[in-house]
Amino acid sequence: MSTLDNILEEINKAESIVILTHENPDGDAIGSGLALYNALKNYGKNPDIIIPEYPRTFEFLPGSDEIKKESEITKYDLAISLDCATIKMLNGFANYFEDAKVKVSIDHHSTNTMFGDYNYVSTDAPACAQILLIVLEYFKMEVTKDIGTCILTGIITDTGGFKYSGVTAETFEFVAGLLNKGINVSKIYRKVLQTKTRANFELTRIAADRLEFFEDGKIAFTYITKEDEESVNAENGDHEGIVETGRDIEGVEVSVFIRQTDKGCKVSMRSNEYVNVSDVCLLLGGGGHIHAAGCTLQCTIEQAKEKILRQLKGVI
Ligand code: AMP
Ligand code: MN
Ligand code: MN
Repeated sequence: MSTLDNILEEINKAESIVILTHENPDGDAIGSGLALYNALKNYGKNPDIIIPEYPRTFEFLPGSDEIKKESEITKYDLAISLDCATIKMLNGFANYFEDAKVKVSIDHHSTNTMFGDYNYVSTDAPACAQILLIVLEYFKMEVTKDIGTCILTGIITDTGGFKYSGVTAETFEFVAGLLNKGINVSKIYRKVLQTKTRANFELTRIAADRLEFFEDGKIAFTYITKEDEESVNAENGDHEGIVETGRDIEGVEVSVFIRQTDKGCKVSMRSNEYVNVSDVCLLLGGGGHIHAAGCTLQCTIEQAKEKILRQLKGVI
């Protein structure tokens, strides 16, 4: 029996199912979560999806008004984690996962630690949502227009609008199938990639002003503090995309962006061609993908900057 057969068997058996994703959820996390949530509901199940906080950009997604912040159920029959590389990244709500009778991880991170009883991890997929499309088809669960909208949101956000190297012919084939269902790609694109909140614009401006170059312009570094976020009344997700400012400057190979939070310095790294930032972040206790990775460092911004630059100097 394949892993997917096992997972379907567990879905059939389970009376209570919870869907979880990583902290600071992005479009792939929320899109994958809601795609599976809607599919399981249509299948006759009554799953919960728990995401304590997420950017309001994604409030247009079908099913988002049913997302729970927490649950009275503590021991689910089945927990499914999506788009999440480690149990630690489930963060404050990992208990729903750890306490569940059966645990499943469906993901596309190369640094996935295989923390489920069943792990369906495909590191070639540019988005977890693309894997879900395969999974739902295997389960013979119909990909409705609503589900397709969630999946397309995941694919569009994680591929930066079909422009990153993970995009394959298969991605476009999948997307063509979704468009045939009448999904409005240009509307999703505008909502999730093009339109920025005012606070996001203000934070980007602050970060751009502070941006420094190292190693002959091959490294771009910038940061925002808690005070910066307060000063612009930032909401969840308003830091998204700032790391791309440095990445997109000619000559830059690695862009580093630090966001100061109560849990420490959240580091985002992006590379353009040859540096594997997932390896760099793994050495710093994090992980991710070859061209997009992150980690959290418990120190000041200045100390974090030094640690990161030291690691990068060896590979740049
Ligand atoms: P971000 O810069 O937060 O958008 O993250 C870029 C990629 O790295 C995403 O796929 C994250 O899931 C992953 N990532 C970020 N932080 C960590 C971490 N501490 N451990 C593992 N993966 C991470
Ligand atoms: Mn994600
Ligand atoms: Mn993803």
